[in-house]
Amino acid sequence: MAILIIEDEKKLVNILKKALKEERYSVDVAYDGEEGLSKAMRNNYSLILLDVMLPSKDGFAICRELRARHIHTPVIMLTARGAIEDKVFGLDAGADDYLIKPFSLIELFSRIRAILRRRKTTDEDMLKVANLVMDKKKHEVTRGGVVIPLTPKEYKLLDTLISRKGEAVKRRDLIDHAWGPTFKEVGNELNVHIKYLRSKINKGNKKPLIHTVRGVGFVLKE
Ligand code: CA
Repeated sequence: MAILIIEDEKKLVNILKKALKEERYSVDVAYDGEEGLSKAMRNNYSLILLDVMLPSKDGFAICRELRARHIHTPVIMLTARGAIEDKVFGLDAGADDYLIKPFSLIELFSRIRAILRRRKTTDEDMLKVANLVMDKKKHEVTRGGVVIPLTPKEYKLLDTLISRKGEAVKRRDLIDHAWGPTFKEVGNELNVHIKYLRSKINKGNKKPLIHTVRGVGFVLKE
């Protein structure tokens, strides 16, 4: 289980990192908002610990942007500010839980476990279109029960499409999720990767699932 910590207080980061590693979580860290958002978009974490007051982009904005991009990684907001409005604001932004600094590690771990447990029982981890299934917990894609080996980029592209199935997904949204928000296409990277993804998904199947939406992007549907 990988956890992303987005927090600029180095001392707190070190404490959290050490404690989480002792609990056998793997840990990634971002010390500012932009870096945190781009890591959260590029990688699949089980959970994000998100500070509110951050350089370059605050925690509420990060959380809102993730949710707007259909990234539903659970988020626990960490903040020194204890005002009730902040709590409501954080949860409105799409956070799953909230901890006020200073908090105890026991409290933090119990919240993490509760969220991951809740997460286990949701079917958000199993996404389907026709006979194509993405099992996010296993990080595995199958069609008609046959495993389709995908590269990390192809997986992310499919993840974005399948989370928004039936919807025309803009090219930029796909690029943001697979390459990160600062990436600029120099060639035809998106089309090339979609082409590979398409051929892998269609292999041995007559029905294409990824369709081009002219002038917009792509849609995944039957
Ligand atoms: Ca801070």
